[in-house]
Amino acid sequence: MKITQVEAIFLRLPAINERADGTQETLIVKVHTDAGITGVGEADSSSAVAKAIIDAPVSHKIARGLADCVVGHDPFEIDRLIHRMYEGSIYYGRQGAVIQAMSGIEIALWDIVGKAVGRPVYQLLGGGFRKKFRAYASILFGDTPAETENTARRLAAQGFRAVKFGWGPMGQSEASDIAHVRAARQGLGPDVELMIDAGLCWDTATAIRRAKQFEQFNPTWLEEPLHPDNLAGYARLAAQSPVRIAAGEEVCDVKEFQQLMDVGAIDVVQVDVTRVGGLARSKRIGWDSAERHRLCVNHSYKTGVNIAASLHFVAALPNTHYFEYCVEQSALRQTLTKQRFPVVDGEIAVPEEPGLGVTLDEAVVEKYRVG
Ligand code: MG
Repeated sequence: MKITQVEAIFLRLPAINERADGTQETLIVKVHTDAGITGVGEADSSSAVAKAIIDAPVSHKIARGLADCVVGHDPFEIDRLIHRMYEGSIYYGRQGAVIQAMSGIEIALWDIVGKAVGRPVYQLLGGGFRKKFRAYASILFGDTPAETENTARRLAAQGFRAVKFGWGPMGQSEASDIAHVRAARQGLGPDVELMIDAGLCWDTATAIRRAKQFEQFNPTWLEEPLHPDNLAGYARLAAQSPVRIAAGEEVCDVKEFQQLMDVGAIDVVQVDVTRVGGLARSKRIGWDSAERHRLCVNHSYKTGVNIAASLHFVAALPNTHYFEYCVEQSALRQTLTKQRFPVVDGEIAVPEEPGLGVTLDEAVVEKYRVG
């Protein structure tokens, strides 16, 4: 089997509002083969940038577009193709958007292989540790504490056993930060787990102070309180926080994840399969975290393609339990795939169909395609 074409499809809602939560545009990647099998992947990046990285013509032996690195090759040779993309873009890559763009192609390769052999991707990754995960509803904080409390009440009533609030108003003031977390806990009641995503808003001293102040609300973890480059800050925070510290979603590099664990001493390692270069690299990071006895969690804030790939990823690790489940109402998040991944009794199930187990709704693709 040979790859014949890589199609990078830029989808974008007509207007991206100020709340821009990441679900309002995306890059879907289709990898076509001469066997008639097409794989689907997704890259979480600045979509126009990632598309250009995939489509770019050769400008230098080590400055190639990613499609150019894989067309004509066997989609089963995934590690070799990852290497070709990494080395073929090394002049301008190794980090950030190039690795994010690579994720879209790599995930599509696993989809092809799964469809070709008739197996779900988690089995190809050597997994099956769990088939169901506690889906935590993931949403931004409200603009006011009252709005946060109402959202919490609504999500708890929908049956979620865990809810994460993030970004938005966090960091405005000590009183406001505490009021929002208190409102979230009040809305959820004592029995639903609460996660807090600070969204990179504090310096180290403030983060240490907030971790202690938030303890009374019994959060499961405090996420991204610090800038991803602030490794020394993470180390100080982890040493003093009574609450688990989570991080990783800004990170694309395997070694950087190791530093976050070994120097930053984070407790919860968050891996986005559509940002770190795909499933094989996610698995490496996931096993690095397992060997360090940390909890590994997916980061997912895109479409059903990201959800499916993330489910196969977490199913292939022993140290997973939760699943980030974005509940934003964007049409791309809610309608791009025919599968809707329902949460039943607070849990989400891993797809069992061959490949990723997703089918795009092509009418939705055409409606929002801008490139
Ligand atoms: Mg986050």
